[in-house]
Amino acid sequence: MSHQDCIFCKIVKGEIPCSKVYETGAVLAFLDIAPVNKGHVLLIPKEHFEDVWALPPALAPELLDAIQRVGLGLKQGLGALGMNLGMNNGRAAGQLVFHAHWHLIPRFEGDGLTL
Ligand code: 5GP
Ligand code: ZN
Repeated sequence: MSHQDCIFCKIVKGEIPCSKVYETGAVLAFLDIAPVNKGHVLLIPKEHFEDVWALPPALAPELLDAIQRVGLGLKQGLGALGMNLGMNNGRAAGQLVFHAHWHLIPRFEGDGLTL
């Protein structure tokens, strides 16, 4: 099921372009349009779920596998030394797009980022 006005559903459908990084049957990862650091990736279930509590637990293995694969690819490909992995759930927590997503933010020596 997709939500008509959801930006990430439009990305899944190809109605809005994205820089795709990784894809499986149920998961899509693409570069954040406003990266807070080099290689900032968003990873989403293709199906629309508003936040972490709406996600079916059966999706968890595929999501974790994708997070690990994309994260490892970023570490090896970009030479990242570490990675912030985060998720905003709810407006009060800074969620702006209400289609559940993980932020993968590679970290580099002396990048000065404070998250
Ligand atoms: P949130 O605050 O909801 O966790 O983060 C939403 C993220 O989606 C932000 O980092 C923002 O830059 C990113 N974003 C919003 N619209 C688009 C878009 O159309 N394409 C891409 N690639 N990222 C987007
Ligand atoms: Zn959506």
